[in-house]
Amino acid sequence: MSDSISLGPGREFDVIRDLVRRWGESARGIGDDAAILDVPAGCRLLASTDATVENVHFRDGWLEPDEIGYRAAAAALSDLAAMAATPMAILVAMCVPEKWRQHLAGIAEGIGQASRSFHAPITGGNLTRASELSLTVTVLGYAAHPLGRDGARVGDVVYVTGALGGPGCALDAWVSGRQPSRDHRARFARPSPRIREALWLASHGATAAIDVSDGLLADAGHLAAASAVDVCIELDAIPAMSGASPLVAARSGEEYELVVTMQAPVDEHLFAREFGVPLTRVGVVTAPREHTPRATLRSHGRFVDLPAGHDHFS
Ligand SMILES: [Mg+2]
Repeated sequence: MSDSISLGPGREFDVIRDLVRRWGESARGIGDDAAILDVPAGCRLLASTDATVENVHFRDGWLEPDEIGYRAAAAALSDLAAMAATPMAILVAMCVPEKWRQHLAGIAEGIGQASRSFHAPITGGNLTRASELSLTVTVLGYAAHPLGRDGARVGDVVYVTGALGGPGCALDAWVSGRQPSRDHRARFARPSPRIREALWLASHGATAAIDVSDGLLADAGHLAAASAVDVCIELDAIPAMSGASPLVAARSGEEYELVVTMQAPVDEHLFAREFGVPLTRVGVVTAPREHTPRATLRSHGRFVDLPAGHDHFS
């Protein structure tokens, strides 16, 4: 178990030992009271935490245990991507009811997959009994020049990574008692934090970024508010997955793609070749039209209202 310190006797420690064994080289320094990490000289430390709760973020039967673990870690790592930070460590606090005990190994396997994929070792955590399954994943990363939400300027170009709408379609299907399509389901179950893509964008003139967790328009609205600008998005330019309308794509949350404002247009083909993921120009940053800066949606020169989405868990 790499450089981990030995744990004492006891059932809880047996479980933790099993998890650490499963994680192999991904687990580092577990067993001491706190993890010790070095931040590269000249860099800032970035920290973010994200909770995944049964019956709030997913329902039993939607996801396999490894997908629950992977998704929880990927969602947390996406917040580092949004800041153009390089992951350093993952810490996991797991609250596990008795009925989920048998699936703990699967959940841990998924967390380990995310850890390996994004080179973020698991350096600590906590395990406790609870009445509902929840995973709280804390991620630490570093960046010499973190990318905030507040750097967008009038005249910047707005881009989005990937193709949107998959998670929205998958949730709609599950909530209506249908099985989602394989592609839509995969986008919900196995999101891909855009870590390397963010570093590329940051080095090519990105001024601000946010990851799409609430929906493209909603998250662009958060960026607009932080930067005190309007973000104008062309509905028909939004890259939508097959089976998702542009409106669904504008509203679909938990995408973990990035919305980025750039000083000038960049080579989208180069980006797609490098990462195998599309980069699409979807809009422009303008001066606020009204007192409150916001994100707006336009189609053929007219403003479009995004119909309110239904609450999947109401
Ligand atoms: Mg975020």
